[in-house]
Amino acid sequence: MLTYTAFDHASSAMTLSSRHGCDAMRTMVQCDFDGTITEGDASFFILDAYARGDWRQLLKEYRERKTSVLEFNTRAFAMVKEDKQTVLDILKDKVRVREGFCDMVDYCVRRGLRFAIVSNGLDFYIDSTLKELGLENVEVHAAQACFHPGGIKVQYIGPDGQQLADGFKEAYIRSFLESGYRVIYMGNGYSDIAPARQARHVFATGELLAYFRENNLEYRPMENFVDVVRELGVISQVQV
Ligand SMILES: [Mg+2]
Repeated sequence: MLTYTAFDHASSAMTLSSRHGCDAMRTMVQCDFDGTITEGDASFFILDAYARGDWRQLLKEYRERKTSVLEFNTRAFAMVKEDKQTVLDILKDKVRVREGFCDMVDYCVRRGLRFAIVSNGLDFYIDSTLKELGLENVEVHAAQACFHPGGIKVQYIGPDGQQLADGFKEAYIRSFLESGYRVIYMGNGYSDIAPARQARHVFATGELLAYFRENNLEYRPMENFVDVVRELGVISQVQV
């Protein structure tokens, strides 16, 4: 069990030397959840199990950029009428956390790196997964889900407290950068491309990795968090 307060950012103010000399910038990790921390997408497991309608068509429209992430999740999760515990139960055997995740969070705590999950996924299953791992204090920014008999309601609240329809991850990385952080980004999907392009270092898997490779952008491949911890050590030796 880790003992720390994730929101105590005063303790994350460790400064690291850059090869250009010492500076006062702080470093943090912005990490996606579905497909990055986990090996599958919890939202898709839920929708496959319980959505009463053609949610895959909505996903297709979202991936073709015809709808926003808010519209996709609002319409898709409105098709799920089950209660929270029933929905969480379906995930128990399906959501696998990549090897080394807890050690990576522990590494960030020990090195004074702020660690934040920023996800287009839904808060209740992220919180539940973290609780099972003993990591309930980790900073999370995700879609806020509200269970109703008529379906799950979803909303995205940006760093300024305003509702967002799209660009949730970009809004957060912008606010982290504006606060003076260097950002190390970890992600796997299309929605990670825009924020990852603004990060100092990128750990990528899946579609994000393919995009960075095809565009000759600098990235580090990640299969699990054992790799990530090793590479974080290398980064901090050279420049963060
Ligand atoms: Mg993802």
